[in-house]
Order: sequence, then structure tokens, then C-alpha cells
Amino acid sequence: MRMYDVAIIGAGVIGTAIARELSKYNVKVIVLDKENDVANGTTKANSGIVHAGYDAKSGTLKARLNVAGNAMYEDLCKALEVPFKRIGSLVVAFDEEDMATLQELYQQGLDNGVPNLQLLGRDEVKEMEPNLSDEIIGALYAPSAGIVGPWELAIALAENAADNGVEIRLNAAVTQIEANEQGFLVTVDEDTLQAKYIINCAGLYGDKINNMVNTPSFEIVPNRGEYNLFDKGVGDYVNHVVFQTPTKHGKGVLVLPTAHGNLMIGPTAEPVDEPEAVETTEVGLKFLREKAKRVVPKFPFQAVITSFAGLRAKVKTNDFIIEASAETKGFINVAAIDSPGLSAAPAIAEMVVGMLKDIAGGFAVNSSFKPNRRPSIHFMALSPEEKAALIAKDPRYGRVICRCEGITEGEIVDIINRKAGATSLDAVKRRARAGAGRCQGGFCGPRVMEILARELKVDITSVVKDRKASYILTGATKSNDEYGLPSQQVADSQDI
Ligand SMILES: Cc1cc2nc3c(=O)[nH]c(=O)nc-3n(C[C@H](O)[C@H](O)[C@H](O)COP(=O)(O)OP(=O)(O)OC[C@H]3O[C@@H](n4cnc5c(N)ncnc54)[C@H](O)[C@@H]3O)c2cc1C
Repeated sequence: MRMYDVAIIGAGVIGTAIARELSKYNVKVIVLDKENDVANGTTKANSGIVHAGYDAKSGTLKARLNVAGNAMYEDLCKALEVPFKRIGSLVVAFDEEDMATLQELYQQGLDNGVPNLQLLGRDEVKEMEPNLSDEIIGALYAPSAGIVGPWELAIALAENAADNGVEIRLNAAVTQIEANEQGFLVTVDEDTLQAKYIINCAGLYGDKINNMVNTPSFEIVPNRGEYNLFDKGVGDYVNHVVFQTPTKHGKGVLVLPTAHGNLMIGPTAEPVDEPEAVETTEVGLKFLREKAKRVVPKFPFQAVITSFAGLRAKVKTNDFIIEASAETKGFINVAAIDSPGLSAAPAIAEMVVGMLKDIAGGFAVNSSFKPNRRPSIHFMALSPEEKAALIAKDPRYGRVICRCEGITEGEIVDIINRKAGATSLDAVKRRARAGAGRCQGGFCGPRVMEILARELKVDITSVVKDRKASYILTGATKSNDEYGLPSQQVADSQDI
């Protein structure tokens, strides 16, 4: 049976951040995720904001870890080649009641240690954001807020952790955990492994994993947030993350540019029963549009390219649960990591590794730890001379597959063949942005599938869109020669 020091359950931004932090030590670590890709849970569908940290109640883990995590983003994203821009955020006020709330947020921000917060008047806001409503009378400005590619961060963390010796095992659902003398016997589908310590980073399933070894002590309630994403052509409609003043009914809809230069509005906030209920709704998207129009009256809705939804892992106490189990030695819960979990992730990782070191009595340092991710080539960012030289060396960089985003075959092949590499159409989109543009993969999708099938040495019909069994092709309609399908399948598919 395979033996590990640490089993991390969940390869979202939290599990992968902890894995990379642990790879700085000589510790045998495995990350297990039930999905076919890293970042296939909440980490792939959120606002992508690195919050400044004025929003969480002072004294909470959320407040402390948000501010600490925010300060770590520049260095981390530079080392891992993750898009991050510190563009600042504005919370806008429409009336005196809003202004009073902003004053409270300002004070809370100061108490939480948020740097350089400012209260602005109408003219200053208008100068910073000319497209905002004339009815806005002021704003809270937080220059330390930023935007990041959320799934790219988790993918980069996983890849770098793997390059430093961590094993990432996907399609690996943990179904049972038994505490024993050596630690834990973990059942992963049909297989078992042994680990001395367990870190529960299972997101929406954090309570289920906890309950496998501990008395139930918290319940996760999924809370859905829906979004609309708009074309890069309108990506500069706002230059900051623009929040509405929070009320007792919620934080309000925000308007923001993404780390890749799109424009986005969202999210809604709605409790749902299912931890997989990521569909968008007519009601939700209509609500978003009405709210966005209040802040940006001439909002360019015609430039919409897609919609999506993510689920927050909410608990009643409304704070992160980061604690070593008092009941089961060696088991650490990192649960209920809803917003600002992405912002806090680097600080959460440091905190959890510190806790684990205390439990284990310390770890030896990994002297060969490589902090930087292997560099990627972004073909369109090269000079004409560099492009020519690269194509001469590898002609795959001369074949543009995604015309919207300008992504070449060479770049797609690279991200398939890295550690924790892409195995699905959306995994390619999340890593190389092929399919993330205006046509959302309408043109490049089939070609990306061919490249995936070729590189992974699988039949093209087994290539999925995103999650397990999300097949795109069911069979050929004309000639099957190209796909090497048996003739029986031709007959079957022609009958359909
Ligand atoms: C609408 C919305 C907006 C948000 N906006 C922001 C924001 O702007 N800024 C910010 O800081 N935060 C934001 N957040 C919060 C942020 O997205 C989360 O805090 C973060 O992504 C949580 O990461 P995670 O790793 O804990 O969870 P996840 O990404 O969900 O990862 C958990 C993983 O565990 C795996 N898993 C579950 N059960 C099992 C099992 N039995 N066996 C194996 N694997 C299992 C899942 O497959 C999943 O991959 C937002 C969240 C939402 C929903």
C-alpha cells in the first residue's frame, strides 16, 4: 500500500496552495481530487478579486488572512507566472445612508490593517471612472485590491508543487477515512492509501469529509453566485473593481475588469440545495443586469459572451474553519472557505503548514525547492523576430488554433504535457485560453479536441468538455477513417 506523510483532500486553490507550501519541506504529500482537473470546484467560478480586506469583521480569520494573503500576491504570482493586477477597488455610495456604511467599512478596514484606504467625493470618483452613474456621491477607495486569474493560480500552484515532488492524483474521490495507529487509511474509489496526516480542503464537501472521522460540527450550505462575462472590446469600461455599498440584503452586484481584460458583472447570492447546482438562471441574470445598470447606466450588454455560476461553501458562523481536530489527532479542517478565500489562500497555506509542523514536531527543509514555475511561451507577446525564430525551431507555434485569443498549437501542446496538465477542452481553455474568447470555442473546439486526443493518445470520442463523462462527440456522421472508429460505430451513428 502507498504511504504518505500528508494527504490533502481537494485540489482547489486552498489544497494546491497548501501543497506548494508543504513542498518546501521534505514531506511526502499527495493531493486527491474527485474531479478530472485541478480547480474544477469553486475555484473555477468566482469574481477573481484579491480583496483589500475591509469587508470582514475585525478579529475574524477572514479579516486577518485576507489582509495577510493580499500582501503575498505580487511575489507569488510573479514566481508562478499567474496574471495579477493591483488595480484597486471602489465601493460606491448613492445616498447618505450608503456614505455612513462606507465610513463604517473604512474604520473596519483600518482596524483590519488595510493599507492606504481613502474616502472619495463625487468628483474624484467620476475622474477615476467616467462611465459610472452621475448619481454616485462618493466611494471608499482601496488601492491594495487586485484581480487575479483564479483557476490559473490553482493550476500553477499544483504544477509547481508537483515539480517539487508532490503527487497530484485526479479522478480520485475519497469515499472513506479510518483512523488507525499510523494515521489514516484513506479509501479512494477502489484503492486505499495510508497517510499520517489529513488536510481537509474539500470545499463544498468539507463537512462530509470531516464527518468521515469526526462528530459532525458544521454544515456547509452552498450559496450560488451567477455572472455575465463580456468581450474584451469593452474590458476598459471600468478600471477598478466597482462594488455597490453592502446593505442588509447583501453585498450588491459588482462590475469589474478581469485579469485577462474582459468585463464582468456578478455575483448573485442564493442558497441552493445541491453542491453541484452551477446552472445560471433567467431570474439571476436579469437581476445582475438591473443592478449593473444602476452603477454603469450605459452598460454594454450587447457584448456579452457567456454566463456562469459558482457556489460558496457557507456556514452559520460566517468565518473560515481552520483547526486541528481535537477529536482525531493529525486531522486538520480547512473548511468553509468562502469569500475571501481566494485572497486569503497564500496566508491560509502558511497558517496550515505551521499548524502541521507543530503537530508533527517540525519538518526538514527541502533544499532543492524550486519557487518558480517553468516559464510559458505567449506567442502573440513575442517580437516578429522571436516569433520567426520560434516557428523555425518548432512549427507548431506557427499554427494559430484559437483566433479570438491568438493561441498556437505549440502553446496548447505545452500545457497538455506539463505536470497536472490539461486533459479536457475546458482544462485547455483555463490554462492556454484557447476557447476563452469571443466565440467561446465555437471555431477552435474541434481542433483542440484533435490535439488533446493526439497528445493524450486517446480516441477523440473520449475527450470531454469539462467534467467526467461530459462527452462532446458520440460518433461520426460521415467518414470514420479520420477518427479510427470501428465500422460498426459508423453504422450506429448514421442511424441516429
Ligand atoms: C460566486 C463566488 C464569488 C467569489 N469571489 C471571490 C473573490 O472575488 N475573491 C475571493 O477571495 N474569494 C472569492 N470567492 C471564494 C473563493 O472562490 C473560494 O474561497 C475558493 O475558491 C475556495 O477554494 P477551495 O479550494 O476551498 O474549494 P474548491 O475550489 O471547491 O476545491 C475543493 C475541491 O475538493 C474536491 N473534493 C470534494 N470532495 C472530494 C472528495 N470526496 N474526494 C476528493 N476530492 C474532493 C472538489 O472536487 C474540489 O476540487 C468566491 C466564491 C464564489 C462562489
